[in-house]
Amino acid sequence: MVTMDKAELLEQIAKEVRECRKCELWKTRRNAVPGEGNPNAEIFFIGEAPGEQEDKQGRPFVGAAGKLLEKLLESIGLMREDVFIGNVLKCRPPHNRDPTEEEVELCTPFLDRQILAIRPKMIVTLGRHSTRYMFSKVGVPFSSIMRVRGEPFEVDVLGLRVVLFPTLHPAAALYNPRLRTLLEEDFKKIKKVADRGFSLSRREVKLDEFFKRARRA
Ligand code: SF4
Repeated sequence: MVTMDKAELLEQIAKEVRECRKCELWKTRRNAVPGEGNPNAEIFFIGEAPGEQEDKQGRPFVGAAGKLLEKLLESIGLMREDVFIGNVLKCRPPHNRDPTEEEVELCTPFLDRQILAIRPKMIVTLGRHSTRYMFSKVGVPFSSIMRVRGEPFEVDVLGLRVVLFPTLHPAAALYNPRLRTLLEEDFKKIKKVADRGFSLSRREVKLDEFFKRARRA
């Protein structure tokens, strides 16, 4: 039996994304945006959906929000080539409207397969849409990104044990200095968790227990 390595698996998924017509968004896209990055990435960043620039170039996070993401990565000693960057939806919703439930349901098998191919140690969700999606995968109701951002949670998702770290979407912080400060603080925490080999501190374990109890309640 021929087995594919991580890079081949990711390229196979990207090819399927580019040919996908599962939801109506294929009709209005210029380019599908499968996602890109290091097949051996330890950290997987998930945004919402391509915007105008991403749709033009077929690459994730290449507009103003992408520049901010690159700066935030640099601030913790990483480049975009070190991590993997993807989105919940692979095609741009017209006028950047929110993804519909049906689009998320139809598109996210691609994201799940990317996560399984890479097997990251940490998943950073950027904004409410990707956070809501990952919370749904671990059976936790999602209410607000501001309630959960900036804290790492250890979860089992798709059969993998990972640290799930919700934070804000860089687009939300572009013109809002308060949110930008929060995002910068969150990235410092991402570095701390990574520097510890993706294990949680005692305080974070307590929070994690609270999170798990809340899930069972
Ligand atoms: S958004 Fe996803 S499901 Fe819809 S056409 Fe694009 S790749 Fe396919």
